[in-house]
Amino acid sequence: MARSVKTAVIGAGPGGLVAARELRREGHEVTVFEKSTRVGGTWVYDPSTDSDRVAVHGSLYRSLRTNLPRQLMGFLDYPFPGPSESFVDPRAFPAHEEVLAFLEGFGRDFGVLEMVRFGAEVVRVWLARDGGEWSVEWRNDDGSVAEERFEAVVVANGHYSVPRIADIPGIDKWRGEQIHSHNYRIPEPFRDQVKCVHEDCEVEFDDGASLHADCIFYCTGYEYHFPFLETNEFISIEDNRVGPLYKHVFPPAVAPWLSFVGIPNKASFFMTLELQSKWIAQVLSGKVTLSSQETLMASIEAYYQELEHVGQPKHHTHSLHPNEIEYLNWLASEVSLPSIEEWKIQMYHAVIESFKSGIDGFRDDWDTEYWTGKSISAFSKGAR
Ligand code: FAD
Repeated sequence: MARSVKTAVIGAGPGGLVAARELRREGHEVTVFEKSTRVGGTWVYDPSTDSDRVAVHGSLYRSLRTNLPRQLMGFLDYPFPGPSESFVDPRAFPAHEEVLAFLEGFGRDFGVLEMVRFGAEVVRVWLARDGGEWSVEWRNDDGSVAEERFEAVVVANGHYSVPRIADIPGIDKWRGEQIHSHNYRIPEPFRDQVKCVHEDCEVEFDDGASLHADCIFYCTGYEYHFPFLETNEFISIEDNRVGPLYKHVFPPAVAPWLSFVGIPNKASFFMTLELQSKWIAQVLSGKVTLSSQETLMASIEAYYQELEHVGQPKHHTHSLHPNEIEYLNWLASEVSLPSIEEWKIQMYHAVIESFKSGIDGFRDDWDTEYWTGKSISAFSKGAR
């Protein structure tokens, strides 16, 4: 008989929402902790930026549109609305508001909202020594702190909030501005600045070139950050490698009772989140079995060696490219689903090629008619 597990999910962004749905579907008892007052995570646009006192979760800028076409922004049985049924934005690569509306609809339609404790920031998670359960401690909006025991914890706290800052020699003397993409919202403050060049704001590059600038804009990525996890003996972060994690999800020593959703990057995010969540739910229920701890560790070691062999730096451990589809198909097969449909693969590769070409405005050059024809089934078979 399938096992029902009392599970805490940390975060109600896309990862937490789909994890909660899959866990509930599999018969688990689910509580989602969300520190903000609404679902959507990254997709909730927040005009404020980090200050000394408050760290802002969101990193969206005001005019952001998705970098994947809408057909790749949905879930398997809950596709993203097609251009004609769009409720906000008819473009192939919609604006962020539409993604948020889609996620809110998802939360409502699958009853996930009822599982969420809003305004509840998880501040500590540790393994209770007596019963092998997890203690989860959270702080409510009113400042009160509470604790509850869970058999399993799924971490879905998002990984695009803590800027990874480049260590540039001489930066301590830089008199110009510095901003990380996390804190960029609107272009107005930068308008006309190039016109003004200062002697003391010189940037030197490796190839000997140099230029004067008023502002260094860091697009240097983000740090994984789990300030609430007291599990250093099972998992740690070293040079942005969260490890050891089997298939970027399970730390072998405590699998399947602790898991992570959404660690991979350079991926088709929503598909990855959904398949990881299905896998976690089915492993917890006992429908899918994990190998022994030793075998999982050996697999992780082999993966690390492979990365070293191809010269992939440690801080890119969770970058799936160019093996995104292989990873998704592996997850799909674990949960007895067919492989990713061919049109999705073609579409995904076409977008990646567009990114690589560096052509500005690739979203508007996208052949919407051609790709809509290819993917028409995605818009017509939906459960919406
Ligand atoms: P998040 O969306 O970050 O959600 C995490 C949630 O956890 C948040 O609600 C947060 O409040 C909550 N949380 C965090 N800590 C705690 C805590 N201690 N206690 C309780 N709650 C907590 N993906 C795409 O597919 N297409 C795109 O076009 C795309 N564009 C992007 C553009 C930008 C600028 C960025 C930053 C990301 C983009 N992404 C895109 C990736 C995006 O992060 C994913 O789509 C998705 O939001 C990841 O979902 P998540 O649930 O893992 O994390």
